[in-house]
Amino acid sequence: MAEWDPYGGNLLEVEQVRKAYGSREALKGVSLQVAPGEFVALLGPNGAGKSTLFQLLTGLFNADAGTVRVCGCDMREVPVKALGRIGVVFQQMTLDLDLSVVANLKFHARLHGLGGAEAAERIADALERLSIADRAKDRVRELSGGNRRKVELARALIHRPRVLLMDEATVGLDPASRRQLLDEVLGLRSGGVGVLWASHLVDEAEAADRVVVLHAGKVVAEGTPSSLIADMGTDSLAEAFLKLTGPPERTPA
Ligand code: ADP
Repeated sequence: MAEWDPYGGNLLEVEQVRKAYGSREALKGVSLQVAPGEFVALLGPNGAGKSTLFQLLTGLFNADAGTVRVCGCDMREVPVKALGRIGVVFQQMTLDLDLSVVANLKFHARLHGLGGAEAAERIADALERLSIADRAKDRVRELSGGNRRKVELARALIHRPRVLLMDEATVGLDPASRRQLLDEVLGLRSGGVGVLWASHLVDEAEAADRVVVLHAGKVVAEGTPSSLIADMGTDSLAEAFLKLTGPPERTPA
């Protein structure tokens, strides 16, 4: 039965990770950490390597070099243990549109070995918390984009992961739904969940505990939003980000 893992060290440790597609190096030695209760924004322009990093973090493929550990579990050596401690919301929606909200969540719970009353209770709690309990029996197809994302967030949390990975999860949402999703995820910190929130939208990083700026496969800056602003001598995080990554049209080397 999945329970909160009491691991108290860094929940996510990425060390010197490299990944190339043929001769194109997408990640050139990336390191980052997420501590319990920490919200880390992974900010990078398109092509920075965010999706590649998320694919490594979710076990879709292995890094060419470097290590990924989740709650101390090495993704290469004990992938099932490592993955069991992760919850993910991918950029593309992965719900079954023709199943009800509850059916989608039950299916995921079963994959994690949860069933019966326990699964039902967790699902009900999650839907209540995200204010979509009244939509439990509706087919996902009938939900707005914002509510579909909430269902995906509920699903990502059902097995009580210690690390939540959000990959450009607000793409396609209106500003109000975007804010709501971000606030829900920021609220998870009090329960000790560590969050890695990947985005190319600077405003989503403003409330982060720490921002990691990825550019052309490298971490080019890291710190609190205010320390990044101070270090770059700018007036805003958006300006600091632009200074670090260049104008959007510039093609990374
Ligand atoms: P981001 O998610 O930050 O936009 P990606 O991880 O998608 O960045 O891409 C990083 C780099 O790797 C880019 O130069 C991209 O063109 C390249 N890339 C990504 N996926 C592939 C692939 N399947 N084959 C070849 N190159 C890829």
